[in-house]
Amino acid sequence: MIIDLRSDTVTLPTQAMLEAMHSAKVGDDVFGEDPTVNALEEKSAALFGKEAGLFCPSGTMSNQIAARVHARHGEEVILHKLSHLYYYEAGGLMSNSGLSVCLLDGARGMITAQDVADHINPDDLHRPRTAMVAVENTMNKGGGAVYDNPELARMAELCRDHNLKFHLDGARIFNALAVTKQSPAACGGMFDSLSVCFSKGLGAPVGSVLLGDAQFIRQARRVRKVFGGAMRQAGYLAAACIYALDNHVTRLEEDHARAAAMGQELERLSWVDEVMPVETNILIFKVKPSITASAVVHEFDKFGLKAIAFDKQSIRFVTHLGFTDEMLDRTIGILKKSF
Ligand SMILES: *Cc1c(COP(=O)(O)O)cnc(C)c1O
Repeated sequence: MIIDLRSDTVTLPTQAMLEAMHSAKVGDDVFGEDPTVNALEEKSAALFGKEAGLFCPSGTMSNQIAARVHARHGEEVILHKLSHLYYYEAGGLMSNSGLSVCLLDGARGMITAQDVADHINPDDLHRPRTAMVAVENTMNKGGGAVYDNPELARMAELCRDHNLKFHLDGARIFNALAVTKQSPAACGGMFDSLSVCFSKGLGAPVGSVLLGDAQFIRQARRVRKVFGGAMRQAGYLAAACIYALDNHVTRLEEDHARAAAMGQELERLSWVDEVMPVETNILIFKVKPSITASAVVHEFDKFGLKAIAFDKQSIRFVTHLGFTDEMLDRTIGILKKSF
């Protein structure tokens, strides 16, 4: 048995999801004629209380499109230095859109309204104009950390007051909502745009949606074309995303419980230095200075357990719908007999 905890992107479509894909009604989406893509865009927008949606091949693309539409060449985006939009998108803010970044620190990858306020550039010809603020919820590099809603509300208000666009990288927003119990519509109300992924915890093979007001999405549709992300009979993929929305949201709490259970076991092990708080489906822990993360990952590999060395001392586990209770027991057994 191979247990793959490298990412929640490793899931395979379930039989029922494949059947939904197989029976999807499709058309040419560049002509706006794919009924399943249209249904997904409308359903997602309605869920988050937004006017419109745009189906994209990846969360990277939906984030990058948002930045292109919200900010002009030479303007600046405020975001955490470990956020996906900066750290994991290959410099796209700069190369795709000519944007400057203002990188903030912050515990567990999260930024605060106060810190954002302190970094909005004044109207000074020496400084790039601040155009946009982006947050990631849950925060991957912060160990799946979940933002406090009042903090996000303060940031939203600050952005409104300063005429800045507020974007959510919500690749794992449903994991955050499972913890805070906030409604998707209340969440959507705080942001000008949201990127929501179906290929993470929701278990679809491909796909993200970008959500916002109608004018924003009209502009975003043009940028998606420029970026090469306009697809044809994409309804086969959208059908998987609709299936995921209908069937894989409420089960996320199971993933969180399994991650928490592993976190508790790790706390007790002599070769583990520190376990980051486990709030959702991501678990990051540090190994003792006498060993390295890559050595531990190599050791796990011998038992059929796959994980990612996040840095020299840290390892990341991500739980997902392909990780069962049986696998959890087995993983705990492997953890106990390693080192
Ligand atoms: C995975 C992820 C994305 C998008 O990744 P793609 O692989 O391009 O779909 C964006 N933000 C975060 C936080 C992610 O984890």
